[in-house]
Amino acid sequence: MHSLSFGPAGIPQRAAGKGIVRGVEAVKELGLGCMELEFVQSVYLKEEKAKEVDEARKKAGIRLSVHAPYFINLNARAPETMRASIERLYLACKMGGIAGAESVAVHAAFRHENDSKTIQKKILEACDEIYERLDKDGIKNIQIAPEYAGKKSQWGTLEEVMEIASIDKRLRWCMDFGHAHACTNGSMTSKKAFDGLLEQIEKYDKNYLKDLHIQACGITYTEKGERYHTPFESDESTLNWKGMIESLKEFKVGGMFIAETPNQEHDALLCKQYYEEL
Ligand SMILES: [Zn+2]
Repeated sequence: MHSLSFGPAGIPQRAAGKGIVRGVEAVKELGLGCMELEFVQSVYLKEEKAKEVDEARKKAGIRLSVHAPYFINLNARAPETMRASIERLYLACKMGGIAGAESVAVHAAFRHENDSKTIQKKILEACDEIYERLDKDGIKNIQIAPEYAGKKSQWGTLEEVMEIASIDKRLRWCMDFGHAHACTNGSMTSKKAFDGLLEQIEKYDKNYLKDLHIQACGITYTEKGERYHTPFESDESTLNWKGMIESLKEFKVGGMFIAETPNQEHDALLCKQYYEEL
C-alpha cells in the first residue's frame, strides 16, 4: 500500500539547469515525495547519469516517474514513424528504468481512421517488443503507462487506458485530471465530479487506486480538448483543484501525484499542504 506522494513535472526551479541528480535533492529539500523526468522533447539521460540518479533517488527516498517523448504514435501509418516511435518509447523506459523510475506516461497513439480495438492491438504489440528488449537489458522495474489523453484526436479515453492495463499486466495507466476536465467539456468543477471519476475507477479495479500515476494541472480547453496548462489557482481554469484533493484523500488513493502546471513545485506543495490539512 502506497501513500500519496506529491511532486513536480521536471526539475524544481531552485535546481534549474543543474541536472536530475540535483533535482532529486531539491525535491527532498522541498519536502516533496516524487518527481517526473520530462523526456517530452527527447530522452536526454545517458546510462551513466541514470545510475547516479538511481543512487540519489534511493538516498533521498523519492519516487520517480517519466513522461515519454511527445513524438510517439504507436498507430502511425508510415512504418518508419512506427519504428521511431517504438525506439523513443523503449529508450524512455530503459533510461527511466535504470534511474529507478516506476512508470512511463505516454500519449500512446493518434486515432486516424482506426477503431479503438485496432489501435489497442497495435499498442500491445509495440509494448510486447519493448518489454522483450527491456528483459534482455535486465530492466524489470518499469511500467509503460498509457495516459488519459487530452485531445479527442488521440487514443486514450479513461475506459481505453484502464482496459489496456487490465489486458497486459506489465502495463499500468496514467490518470490526467487536467485532460479529464478538458475532454468532458469542463466537468471537473466539484468534489462530486472527482468522486464520480474515482468511483468509476474503483468499480473497474480497486487495485488501480492503490498506486495511481496521476498528472494534474489547471487547464483551458476547446471542443477538441486541451488548449494549455495553467496554475491550479488561475482564473482561466475551472478545474476544482481543492475538490480533486479532497476526493483523493477520501478515497485513500495512493501513488504519485505530479503537478504539471507552469509553476509545478509551488503547485505540488499547495496540493500537498491542502491534502495534509484535511
Ligand atoms: Zn501527458
